[in-house]
Amino acid sequence: MPAHPIRTATPQQAADLLIIHGYLVTMDPQRRVFADGAVAVRGRDIVAVGPSAEVQARFSAARTLDAGGAVVHPGFVECHTHVTYHLARGAWGDTVSYAEVGATTELAFVNAMDDEAEHASTLLACLEMAGNGTTCFIEAGTAYSPDAVATAAESFGMRGLVADPFLWDALETPGGHNAYRLDRAPANTDRCLSLLGTELRRNRDPEALVRGHVAIAGMGTATDELERAAKAAADAAGVVLNQHQSYYRVDTETDDRRHGKHALLHLDEIGLLDRNCLFAHANVIRDDEVGPLVRGGSSIAWCPAGSMLWGVGGTFRGRHAELYRQGVNIALGSDSANWSNRFDLGLQGYLAVLTARETSGTRTILAAEDALAMATINGARAVGLSDRIGSLEVGKRADIVVRANDVPEAFPLTDPIAQIVYSAGAKTVHTVIIDGRVVLEGRVPTRVEARTVFDAVQSSTARIFDRMGYRFAPKWKPVDRV
Ligand SMILES: [Zn+2]
Repeated sequence: MPAHPIRTATPQQAADLLIIHGYLVTMDPQRRVFADGAVAVRGRDIVAVGPSAEVQARFSAARTLDAGGAVVHPGFVECHTHVTYHLARGAWGDTVSYAEVGATTELAFVNAMDDEAEHASTLLACLEMAGNGTTCFIEAGTAYSPDAVATAAESFGMRGLVADPFLWDALETPGGHNAYRLDRAPANTDRCLSLLGTELRRNRDPEALVRGHVAIAGMGTATDELERAAKAAADAAGVVLNQHQSYYRVDTETDDRRHGKHALLHLDEIGLLDRNCLFAHANVIRDDEVGPLVRGGSSIAWCPAGSMLWGVGGTFRGRHAELYRQGVNIALGSDSANWSNRFDLGLQGYLAVLTARETSGTRTILAAEDALAMATINGARAVGLSDRIGSLEVGKRADIVVRANDVPEAFPLTDPIAQIVYSAGAKTVHTVIIDGRVVLEGRVPTRVEARTVFDAVQSSTARIFDRMGYRFAPKWKPVDRV
């Protein structure tokens, strides 16, 4: 006879990782929040979400992370980025004009790129994105070597989507905007059609960390033939079609002239405002373009800094907040080095909320929770992965950010969501899990060495700038250097 009664509790299930005592912001359809919540992870997947006591009673794990009351949320989804341009961050200075940079400086930079540089640049971008709470990015189709991007992202452990490089075939439009003339990617329909869909081969592996999608450069650089072919390829593969659109007056005017109507009206007519279409920027939206956007169901990657840094005017011509209020899927993007300079999606959310309030004169037009939705669940939908990421729900992949309340900006512990959007920002990002794997722990990457990445970035940048014959000339020249 046993000395004590036998306990008849259900046996615990095995998990690989338990995150407990988090202020759990699930971003599920009910927007449930648990003040003392837990997530159980097995392999790549989330297998339980709920109150800590409940999840701990059901699961035993090889490893347990105690969030100590700090926020735990789904990873941010970066919806517009050029990860291979990071080597030129800050190098164009503040005085070069928009017209000049595209036609000369950045054109020369992209022409000088090589695979090794694209690999180093992507690693730097991944380090930065993860450190700021991003767990997935969609590349804008501007890497010569999607393989270099994919290899770098996979070695870091970052989720990503890549596409065929520089698909454009209408650069010679009279009065056309200043898209690059690239030696390795001439504007040519045949070239685009032969490349189109090559990167979709990655999706044959349903568990691929880096997947393929379809991207064209957009923004007045595609014929209808290319737009339609790209949309058909995206439809057939069940992926998104990603392109720039309506960034600046120059490209919208190019489109308006070509089509004899506002750009988005034309895209609507040819079936390009569909649910699997993602447009970066949308800084210039005219009255007659709002209805088709709302009805069509496409997504917009709002890049506030990408407009503000160049004085483009997207914050008052873009109407992103108005579209969001009308149900358009607005997500967020950081664009590129020299366009926002930071791959910090939380910062984009912060700027989005503030600029919407400033331009509308309405404090309630967007709130901190809206910024979080744009950065997570809306981003997941925008990149076509809402079935697997964007929220903390059973059955989704474990892409999770664990914060730590160890900076002054986190205190006092009043509204944890306002704290991560308005005050602490990325400073509290502590541990990042992607596809069930810890890729950043205590702010330190687990699979690459930051110093090695920085060294590779420096040597690649020097090589590319030598090839360009370029040296950055600071406005205030150091007196101790000639
Ligand atoms: Zn862009």
